[in-house]
Amino acid sequence: MTAVPSSASMAAASRASGRVPRPTDGADPLVMAIDVGAQRLSAGLVSTQGHVIVRDRVATPRDVWPALERLVRRVVAARPSERSSTLRCGVTCEAPLDAAPGKVSPLTMPLLKGFDLRDRLAELTGLDVVLETRGNGRALAERWQGGHDPRDAAHLIVVIASESVDGGVIVDGQVVHGRTGNAGNLAHVIVEPEDGLECLCGSFGCLAPYLSTRSLEIEINRPLRRAQPSIIERTGVMLGRAIATAVASFDTRLVLIGGATPAALGPPLLDVTRRELAQRSRLSHLSELRVEPVALGLEGTLLGAAASALGHPRTVSR
Ligand SMILES: [Zn+2]
Repeated sequence: MTAVPSSASMAAASRASGRVPRPTDGADPLVMAIDVGAQRLSAGLVSTQGHVIVRDRVATPRDVWPALERLVRRVVAARPSERSSTLRCGVTCEAPLDAAPGKVSPLTMPLLKGFDLRDRLAELTGLDVVLETRGNGRALAERWQGGHDPRDAAHLIVVIASESVDGGVIVDGQVVHGRTGNAGNLAHVIVEPEDGLECLCGSFGCLAPYLSTRSLEIEINRPLRRAQPSIIERTGVMLGRAIATAVASFDTRLVLIGGATPAALGPPLLDVTRRELAQRSRLSHLSELRVEPVALGLEGTLLGAAASALGHPRTVSR
């Protein structure tokens, strides 16, 4: 459990994440923020100004719900006494969401297939719960607290590549949801139509197995930070192909890449991605396209869930 009451610890957190230190926000109302990932379950209390007041997390066990229930109870118990109101709850979960509203079916967590996450959390917390994919949450967090130029933040693609691959798209200042809430995830864009790698979704040649930390480490049989240059080259090419498809479809100018895979492969990955993209995106209106690392670190997951709960707050100007 980590409470974050002091300005010193907030400044340290800000330095670590590259964010600008901000003043404390007094008794600003809070929202509960929850993220359900294959590697980590995270929960916290976040102010409406975007300050993480309480945070807690655990490694994700196979049976997710009992661990998530305990985690949420701990966060509720840790709410500072002077903070009386918790407005609502935002939860992000690895994709995809189930076709049935409020339910999830993440490919990397089979026991959550068809699980009624929204209503179970509403019962547990007594709060209204807003459910988003993790990719959409990260896109909302970057738009809200990433410090980007508001003109860029209004047209934005985010790709998060760790054990699973998620993504979100913001167009005209609004996150793109689609019919079932799963729009914007580039994980299953086909990047290799001939003899492509098998994907957890059952298809072949999707982006996900070329970008997933777990898939790559199984393939190369070593930690990803020791990947050979040919793997970095292939990963960057596949990511560039997927982004080229997305930017041509959504007319965005800024693409943000984050997660454990780009962290392990380092700057050469984005160099290859930009080179591939330059070769494939030739339309004049895409000439100002930029591919950059995400601005927010691990706190981006909780901020994304909080942004979902807050109804997609507007970009914070720096
Ligand atoms: Zn797939």
